[in-house]
Amino acid sequence: MSAAVDISDVIVVGGGIVGSAIARALAGTKLSVTLLEARNDVGDGTSKANTALLHTGYDATPDTLESRLVARGYELLGAYAEQTGIPVEHTGALLVAWTDEELDALPALKEKAERNFYHRCEIVGADEVYRRVPDLGHGVLGGLTVPGESIICTWTTNLALATDAVARGARLMRGARVTGAVADDGRTTLQTTRGDVCGRWVINAAGLGADHLDAEFGHHRFAVTPRRGELLVFDKLARPMVPCIVLAVPSSRGKGVLVSPTIYGNVMVGPTSENLQDRTATGTSEEGFEFLVSKGRALMPSLFDEEITATYAGLRAAIDQDDYLIDINVAARYLLVGGIRSTGLTSGMAIAEYVTGLLDDAGLDVTERPDLPPPPKMPNLGDAYLRPYQDGERIAADSEYGRIICFCERVTAGELRDAFQSPIPPADLDGLRRRTRVMNGRCQGFYCGAHTKALLDAGGQAR
Ligand SMILES: Cc1cc2nc3c(=O)[nH]c(=O)nc-3n(C[C@H](O)[C@H](O)[C@H](O)COP(=O)(O)OP(=O)(O)OC[C@H]3O[C@@H](n4cnc5c(N)ncnc54)[C@H](O)[C@@H]3O)c2cc1C
Repeated sequence: MSAAVDISDVIVVGGGIVGSAIARALAGTKLSVTLLEARNDVGDGTSKANTALLHTGYDATPDTLESRLVARGYELLGAYAEQTGIPVEHTGALLVAWTDEELDALPALKEKAERNFYHRCEIVGADEVYRRVPDLGHGVLGGLTVPGESIICTWTTNLALATDAVARGARLMRGARVTGAVADDGRTTLQTTRGDVCGRWVINAAGLGADHLDAEFGHHRFAVTPRRGELLVFDKLARPMVPCIVLAVPSSRGKGVLVSPTIYGNVMVGPTSENLQDRTATGTSEEGFEFLVSKGRALMPSLFDEEITATYAGLRAAIDQDDYLIDINVAARYLLVGGIRSTGLTSGMAIAEYVTGLLDDAGLDVTERPDLPPPPKMPNLGDAYLRPYQDGERIAADSEYGRIICFCERVTAGELRDAFQSPIPPADLDGLRRRTRVMNGRCQGFYCGAHTKALLDAGGQAR
């Protein structure tokens, strides 16, 4: 691949799901691509801490760019997950009405789904709701089914897209925060914390930092408000109580709190929705915890007899308009992808397709190369699929897959070794957790943390 002084055809700023998807798509053409990420790892921003639902788009605002790209992203990511092994479970969702007002709102929600070209929703009575989710609290009046809503692994999605981009020839620079931009003579020089990087085109997919980078290109058209969402994670023993995603009926106060299974075999309750000033405030709060416990207990009281093993929070990049803000400036050879607030995990690949179309219209040759490598095969982190510790044939071929390091999540020495040897190896413990689930179980690394840290310090050499 070209050296740092070379001029890339396109520089993508931001190694979250959106930037990685765009870099992957463009690296599949004849264009040379550089992907810049400020942090030491891809997928370490909003894309690592969300609710991890693969949305059908049934509840999007009809006729928006977001509604279109979420529906398309559902198809694209669903198919890509099958090719790459990103775990997905098509659990379906159930919106539950607890009041007459909520019950009366269900027909309009079904109509809205149909305006979004989603025709599989059904209104069901209380008996059917309890048949599907027997552990719900008393007082359900009815519900609306959304059979296509699914759960997915957001970590593997981001890593698959970035790994694929690199395999297709994109140059990935981690730890490269863009601090300034100078346009001159048909190219833009981005000043980064790892030196200057030159490109003919720049795509801004910087998530929470997109407005600041946009200002470097002379624009002052939007401001990002970090909107925190906190979540509670329950131990795996709770999983049988939550066979599908249980949603609140949305109101003027927002979408409400959901109870959902996770792809790792846990249950989660959340998210909250709180506008903040601080773009780094990804810690959880006592108020958020209390709020989720009170809301969650009303939905499913018996869930709160089970243990909460972790809490986490993510920041949505909310902006002061209701749709995605994707805008191309051909003269400046600059493209903004802003305001990808609550649905970017699902829509990321569709955003990449849309961006590719905009560049095509601008005259770039975006014909797909015939010699593309096959998509990467990602390690499976999902509980519904065969994990290495369960795979006798694999253990017989390589006994490291039978040597468990993390007993809560059943992570083996073979998986840790593979992560260190992968095309985008982890830079720290959190990166290793996202690649393998190590230390993510009920003991949160109490048992395996020291061993795992030593392994990381030794650069992944077996111990
Ligand atoms: C609580 C919560 C729940 C959600 N639930 C869902 C869900 O169930 N389903 C769904 O589809 N979506 C969901 N989302 C939304 C989804 O997570 C986001 O839309 C998506 O992750 C956005 O991806 P991104 O690539 O735009 O942003 P990010 O993942 O934040 O990536 C942007 C990257 O840009 C980098 N960056 C910023 N500034 C610079 C700079 N100057 N130089 C270099 N790099 C820079 C950052 O470090 C970051 O890694 C949820 C979000 C939250 C917070």
